[in-house]
Amino acid sequence: MRLPPRPRLTWKDDGTPVDERVGDVYYSVEDGLAESRAVFLAGCGMPEVWHADADQRRAAYTIAELGFGTGLNFLAAWQMWRRQGPAHGWLHFVSFEGYPLDRDEARRALAPWPELAVLADRLCAKWPVRATGVQQLSWPEDRVTLTLHTGLIEDSLPRSDLTADAWFLDGFSPAKNNAMWAETLWPLIAERAHHGTRAATFTVAGTVRRGLAEAGFEVEKHPGHGRKRERLEARYIGGSPAMSDPLLPPRAAPRIAVIGAGISGACLAYALQQRGAAVRVFDQSSGPAQGTSGNPLALVMPRLDAADTVQARLLLDAYLSAQDFYADLPGAAFTETTHRPRDEAEATRFEKVLADPPLGLEQLEALRGGGLLHKRSLLLRPAELLPALLHDIDVSWGGAVDLDLDALSANGRRFDAIVLAGGWQMAASLPELDLTRRLGQVEYYQSETAAPPSALAAGPYALAIGETRLWGATFGDQTGPAPRISAAAQAENISALARLDPYWRGEASRAKLVSRAGVRATTADRLPLIGPLPDKAAMMAARQSLERSGWTLAADGFARAGIFVASGYGSRGFTWAPWAARILTATLFGDPSPVTKETRRAIAPNRQILRPLKRGTL
Ligand code: SAM
Repeated sequence: MRLPPRPRLTWKDDGTPVDERVGDVYYSVEDGLAESRAVFLAGCGMPEVWHADADQRRAAYTIAELGFGTGLNFLAAWQMWRRQGPAHGWLHFVSFEGYPLDRDEARRALAPWPELAVLADRLCAKWPVRATGVQQLSWPEDRVTLTLHTGLIEDSLPRSDLTADAWFLDGFSPAKNNAMWAETLWPLIAERAHHGTRAATFTVAGTVRRGLAEAGFEVEKHPGHGRKRERLEARYIGGSPAMSDPLLPPRAAPRIAVIGAGISGACLAYALQQRGAAVRVFDQSSGPAQGTSGNPLALVMPRLDAADTVQARLLLDAYLSAQDFYADLPGAAFTETTHRPRDEAEATRFEKVLADPPLGLEQLEALRGGGLLHKRSLLLRPAELLPALLHDIDVSWGGAVDLDLDALSANGRRFDAIVLAGGWQMAASLPELDLTRRLGQVEYYQSETAAPPSALAAGPYALAIGETRLWGATFGDQTGPAPRISAAAQAENISALARLDPYWRGEASRAKLVSRAGVRATTADRLPLIGPLPDKAAMMAARQSLERSGWTLAADGFARAGIFVASGYGSRGFTWAPWAARILTATLFGDPSPVTKETRRAIAPNRQILRPLKRGTL
């Protein structure tokens, strides 16, 4: 089953939640918050460790947790960070959960602590969607990010990509729930630690002590909290002295140039600046939303694959990331999308998706007569959204950007990193990447009647919000230097509209239609390019050693220092952009990744050189 299983939740008379599947409580009946502070936060040396590190490079602190449950430990850490954390820096909380609670259950479980009420509300307002995969939620005003890996631990922990400063081991009692304390997990925890990483747990079970010790932790018993006699504190004594350095230098606000102010560059600039970078965007157009991202309306809806593959999961992660990212921004409105299959093959895919849906009913429903209803899709107005994203960002508009990638300079200014976030215009200057230009045309008009947000899709899509009606898009070859509208594309769109919605077709035939064409940059495997720019010559020179390694390559293998790519979004630019922004922000700052290792490899630009090398066509 792709949907994560639900816990079998019951409530004790005193309000403590229990999972009957395991027969254990989520937190101590006496005072869960006090226990959380004593066992986990104090057990890992917080808040003192946040201040003890004189080296300001380590300003970010990562707590990882086995068993997210109600989010109580997370809230306890967040509250302590607000009250006693450093004035700068960032708290990352990465947690793993196999049987997620829903929002109302979490509210009820967190209700006993009025002092957490405000934070509990903020968490529950963004409560993660029930879906297998990785979701990231941020509260930048508090410099706090939660990364939640949903899935059974044996599946999710090996895929995760992080280095923790502290590990909270909170997976129910080992006697009742061996899965969260299995001996296979200890080396995975150690792999996600650095020398000095702390670990804490409420149990002193022999298997836990031995597992930690064998994986390289020094383990100590300490007096327990409340009625529990003892608890454990541990410290990792293997590994290298410090966690892997972020790619950016240790200055307070690393300087990052983002090339391109379309949706890709705008989301990146927004996310990087929120994380503390000094961002400058360069774009050759004279203002926002003039290029491919500049249609009057855009749709964010999921592409749901029938099988549970890396690609299917990453498509879902990206969609949910976009939902969260755009939720409160100007120019974004949630809407239901009626998604009819475009042909027999798609009808079959939809049936398979519905037989084992990756999303719950709050997100996805079957339509009578075949089709999917995407209940949390988004309609975007780029003309409002893009300026909002770029509101606080320095943008250099107009004129081609003079880039010197070796010197990491743009228009003569040096940067710590450069992100190439342009679409098709960038393709010509990056011959090492395989980006194909595709022309897309939409039609739109102003209706006499206002409509609530609505969306229909069946291959082509038709969108309505207020008076604006927009539909398309064609998908054709782009020749010549700039996109051009054509009567043939308009005719294609008009006949598509007749199939999608005859009512609209009638209104459209009386309206004054406007056509708009844009060029998308697409890749052969239809996945975006998100990651370091690869050094093609170095990869070609290393062909033999790559072959010996079985053609395995890390996402950041053969990276050109300081240069990153966020492109190749095809016709899903508004879906990929927020997710890519979070991935690259984490990569640059050395933060826990919001995606799995497999996903990072699947979207890494270096795959475009590795594959032809392997086939022998390069
Ligand atoms: N830290 C939590 C809190 O602050 O509320 C309490 C965690 S509770 C004691 C243990 C958690 O581990 C539960 O939420 C449970 O669903 C999760 N869990 C148990 N077995 C699991 C497994 N095999 N894979 C992933 N999660 C699991």
